[in-house]
Amino acid sequence: MERRKDKLKQKIIMLRNTAVEPLSEADIVGATLEFANGAMLDLRDLVAVFDYDSEVVLDPCTGDEAIEKAEALFAAEMMESPRSVEQLRREARTFTRDRLHEIVNRPMVAEDLDGITDQDLFPYINPRPYLRKVPSGITLAFYYSFVSDLSLVRLGEILFEDTERPFHKKLCQCQLPSCGIFFFEVKPSTGRPQRRYCSEKHMLEAHDNNAAKRMKKKRSAPVAKPK
Ligand SMILES: [Zn+2]
Repeated sequence: MERRKDKLKQKIIMLRNTAVEPLSEADIVGATLEFANGAMLDLRDLVAVFDYDSEVVLDPCTGDEAIEKAEALFAAEMMESPRSVEQLRREARTFTRDRLHEIVNRPMVAEDLDGITDQDLFPYINPRPYLRKVPSGITLAFYYSFVSDLSLVRLGEILFEDTERPFHKKLCQCQLPSCGIFFFEVKPSTGRPQRRYCSEKHMLEAHDNNAAKRMKKKRSAPVAKPK
């Protein structure tokens, strides 16, 4: 599905992630969805280095430099020339869109699960457990730190794949071919949730297109022989 290539300004999502105010899994999944839809993620990740004798030390995220470094190592290993950060981001977006499209349209079968189960995600994803206050008391939560926006997106995809977590059930993709954006199901106050189209405008547009297609088909159908 092709997205409209609007010359609009690219949407930028600001994300601040620290040990004191970590991004929640819902934040990570939401940012991954925005990334798939074309947004840039401006991630400020302050990696906490716990020094037991003193306070928490905060190091700024290395971002693009980290991506370049990892890509240079990978390219050297594969004896290829390294790709630019922009190229890697474009490829990552295509990959994310394909993954999300599959999640919406084709639930995994046993074979797929065998292929990915027991996969070790360390050191790409490195969570730290911490206790967080919630209305009912306290909960065990995980602070995920990221070297770049692309590692955040990788985790977001996995959170979407996870069938024990709620995110995959809410994920939808607009069925209007000229749109195809991903969105979370919208529950109306009454009736069934809207899952096929991102907006009422696109639902009406798709219905108009389908009606026009049906008319065309009718006109080109062979004329029935009179009895
Ligand atoms: Zn749409």
